[in-house]
Amino acid sequence: MCDLGLVSGSSGNISVRLPSHDTRGLLAVTPSGKRYSELDESGVVVTDFNVEPVEGDLAPSSESLMHAAVYRSRPDVGAVIHTHSAFTSVAAVSGLDVPPIIDEMAVTLGGSIRVSKYAYPGTQALADSVCAALEGRKAAIIKNHGAVGVGRNLAEALDVCMLVERVSKIFIYAKLLGNVDELPKEVVDAESEVFRTRLDSEA
Ligand SMILES: [Zn+2]
Repeated sequence: MCDLGLVSGSSGNISVRLPSHDTRGLLAVTPSGKRYSELDESGVVVTDFNVEPVEGDLAPSSESLMHAAVYRSRPDVGAVIHTHSAFTSVAAVSGLDVPPIIDEMAVTLGGSIRVSKYAYPGTQALADSVCAALEGRKAAIIKNHGAVGVGRNLAEALDVCMLVERVSKIFIYAKLLGNVDELPKEVVDAESEVFRTRLDSEA
């Protein structure tokens, strides 16, 4: 993620859903404020969906409430990655949803990438606004902040985050050229149908 420019230092965070224990949902998440270059598996923290610590010595990521909220609301999701990549952050500041402009977007992400309503970092309000923007999608832009990408596993969530950054860049450059042609509506409808069928089978 650092090499790809999706995060730097200790920014952003990553989690995976763990098998639930005694009906308690669990996640493994990166710790708060630890540089990725200094992080190994001993730094990973396990919490339940109320972010109560279960295992690990460090404090869980400050955005753990958001990760837990995504797992609660989306049974199809097995991994969540939160990034601070540059072009996606430009979209986050502009407040403009990235419309379906590249064929992969509908099939891979579910259509447009929505910008969430602004909320203070680390709060339940941010978790709620991100879940709303993420409904029926694999990615959302977090207003004035960054992005979140989800997948069945970490590899898919990482692919999603890379695609989000790429299409955000394409959208911004096309905007600067003065014209953004979206995909034809019938194409988006057909491709979104493929996406929804797959999503239902993953849930
Ligand atoms: Zn962040």
